[in-house]
Amino acid sequence: MQISRRNFLKYCTMSAASIGLTRLDLEALAAVLAKPDAPTVLWLHGSSCTGCSVSLLNYVSDTAPHDITEVLTQSINLAFHPTIMALSGEASSAALHQAAAAGPYVLVIEGGIPMAYGGHACVVYSYNGHEVTMQEAVQRFAPGAAAILCVGTCSSYGGIPHAGSNPTGVVNVRELTGRPTINIPGCPANPSWVIWAVVQLILGNPVPLDSVGRPVFLYHANGTIHQNCPRNPAVGGEEAAGFEDCHHKCLINLGCRGPFTEAKCENCWNGKEGQGHWCIGVNAPCHGCVEPTFPGPQSFYEPYLPESP
Ligand code: SF4
Ligand code: SF4
Repeated sequence: MQISRRNFLKYCTMSAASIGLTRLDLEALAAVLAKPDAPTVLWLHGSSCTGCSVSLLNYVSDTAPHDITEVLTQSINLAFHPTIMALSGEASSAALHQAAAAGPYVLVIEGGIPMAYGGHACVVYSYNGHEVTMQEAVQRFAPGAAAILCVGTCSSYGGIPHAGSNPTGVVNVRELTGRPTINIPGCPANPSWVIWAVVQLILGNPVPLDSVGRPVFLYHANGTIHQNCPRNPAVGGEEAAGFEDCHHKCLINLGCRGPFTEAKCENCWNGKEGQGHWCIGVNAPCHGCVEPTFPGPQSFYEPYLPESP
C-alpha cells in the first residue's frame, strides 16, 4: 500500500485537540514513521458486524485528508485490512504473511473469536489453499505482535457475539492468547480513540490501563457518563416517563446505563466535538457499550439493574 506519512501527521494535527495528542507526540510520530522499520498494522476481523471499521471509515472531514480511508491507505502502513485493502483472495493473505514475517507489527483485532465447531464459525481467509479460521489467525499472529489492540467490545470482552447462549463459543482475545491487550471497547469503538491508541503504540508510549485493559486516559478521565450528562437531575434535569416525551430529559427510566458506565463519550462522537453528537444527545439511552457487562441479559429500554459482581 502507498505510504504518505505527511498526510497522517496532517490528520493528527487536525484532530490533536479532540484525541489528546500533543505537538511533541506528533513530532515524535513523524520521526518514528520516517524510519524504514516503522511498525506496520495488521487488522483481523473475527465475529462481528464490522461496525467498528464502518465507524472508523465514516469519519469525515471538510479538509484533506477527507476520510479515514485516505488516512489508513495513504498514511500508515496498513498491510492487511479485509474491508478496505485492494488485494483479495490468496494475494491478500500472502501480503499478510509477508508483512508479519518482515515485522515489527501492531496487531489490531476487531470481533470475537469463535471456538466451537473447530473455529469454523468464522473463516477469515484462505492461505495456500487452506481455510484459516479466526482462532488460527489470532494464534498465528498474536505471539509475534509488538502489541495487540482490541478494537470494539467484541474482541475486548466478547460483546454481542458472546451474548445469550453463545452458540459459537466466542471468547475474547485475552482469553485465547493469554497475552495482555489494549482494549478500546465500544459498540462501535469511537474512531478518534482508535486512532489515538494506534498512534501511542507506533510511538511506543506507555498506555496506563485499568483492570479490564482500557486506557485510563480515554475511559476514566471524567468519571461516569451520568456525572457528565447535561440531563442529570442533580443539575436541573427532569426524568422522562417515555420516549414520546424524552427530548432534553433524563433517560434513566428508559434504560440508561450512564450511572454505571465510565468513558468520555459526551460530545465527542462523529467528528463533531462539542455539538451534542453522542447517544444521549440524540435521545438514545446509554447502553453501557464500553463495559465488559455489555450487552447483558436485560432489554436496553427498561430501567437497568446492574449484574451482581
Ligand atoms: S440520561 Fe442517563 S447519563 Fe444522563 S442523567 Fe439521565 S441517567 Fe444519567
Ligand atoms: S454513551 Fe454509552 S452507549 Fe453511547 S457510546 Fe458511550 S458508553 Fe456506548
